[in-house]
Amino acid sequence: MTPAEKEVAELCVELIRVDSSNYGDGSGPGERAAAEVVMARLAEVGVEATYVESAPGRGNVVTRIEGTDPSLPALLVHGHLDVVPANAADWTVDPFAGEIRDGYIWGRGAVDMKDMDAMMLAVLRQMVTEGRRPRRDLVFAWVADEEAGGVYGAKYLTAHHRELFDGVTESISEVGGYSLEVDPSLRLYLIETAQKGLAWMRLIADGTAGHGSMLNSDNAVTEVAKAVARLGAHEWPLQLTPTVRRFLAEVSDAFGLPFDPDDPAPVLEKLGPLVRFVGATLSHTTNPTMLEAGYKANVIPGQASAVVDGRFLPGYEEEFFKTVDELLGPNVRREFVQRDIALETTFDGALVEAMIAALKEEDPTARAVPYCMSGGTDNKTFFADLGVRGFGFVPLRLPAGMDFAAMFHGVDERVPVDALRFGVRVLDKLLLNY
Ligand SMILES: [Zn+2]
Repeated sequence: MTPAEKEVAELCVELIRVDSSNYGDGSGPGERAAAEVVMARLAEVGVEATYVESAPGRGNVVTRIEGTDPSLPALLVHGHLDVVPANAADWTVDPFAGEIRDGYIWGRGAVDMKDMDAMMLAVLRQMVTEGRRPRRDLVFAWVADEEAGGVYGAKYLTAHHRELFDGVTESISEVGGYSLEVDPSLRLYLIETAQKGLAWMRLIADGTAGHGSMLNSDNAVTEVAKAVARLGAHEWPLQLTPTVRRFLAEVSDAFGLPFDPDDPAPVLEKLGPLVRFVGATLSHTTNPTMLEAGYKANVIPGQASAVVDGRFLPGYEEEFFKTVDELLGPNVRREFVQRDIALETTFDGALVEAMIAALKEEDPTARAVPYCMSGGTDNKTFFADLGVRGFGFVPLRLPAGMDFAAMFHGVDERVPVDALRFGVRVLDKLLLNY
């Protein structure tokens, strides 16, 4: 075993034991203690890093390893240090104990994403200790606050410490690179190349306030309720972006199924639980999530509002909002609670080739396929602010049938130790050779 393979589990456990829960309202412990673990492990091998605290306790760590060829653009490798909270009562183990049991590391963050944080650390430490240098500059960033929009993490860093990312044109991070076993001679590795956009919208209707016992043809609650029902019940048509089309075609081919773009259900079925990652990427979605109106049974309020979680496909943003506005009708207006871009890049180029080659070297059965995520990651921030082409690539060879999607923000989150060792072997090859 290489040094990175030997220590990656231990590093992951050490990071899981630091509770860095992000409650989204600033009340959590912050990422400072986790950042200190990273700093200490880097210092051990003589690597200097920049520590950036965006607010008290909100720690970020960035370091750059100089490549041998300054003419090549730099590659960013990033992971977030915060985790979503865990309710210990629901878990089989203590979510912050970092227990290793049955070949798995258990704990909050085991797949989202202290696994990658540890893999980045292990590979970097090994590279430096062995005196090997990558071809291009590698920028490693362990950031805060991804789980609450990256305000104290990626957004802060790109706004206030842009120089740390000089020369970066591409990045790798969550959520992709994991395997789906077709049969023992073929494993698909899903590399994320696209993400849906986000539109959290508040719908507001203004009406005429009055007594609930009297006639009222201008009732704000009625108007909002109708709009919410129209949006919530709308059947968005199938629209296959280039990424989704290619993904479905490749998966069909791998499973020996004909691919019918008008009826992707048989292909989706083959994905098993992974359908949770991609099921919502074949169309826009608009899910009503909140309603607010009124204060007394016999008082018609002058205003009523609701919140709808909208997610639009890359390349179809304008069309999405046009349809939303048609569905809202003339009596309901909308404003954004939060809005974020959609992303889509092509599955080609030298970095893609290098990812495929590194996977194949460690798993000859590997076949890489691009896919679109229905959610978003920090890659959006780096793209929007620095124009960085981002991929989801956390290489993990998973056992057949593992419900990987359920691990994200899930109870009993865990990752196979073997998968981490596989991951550092792949990352080491990729980062050195690319
Ligand atoms: Zn994550």
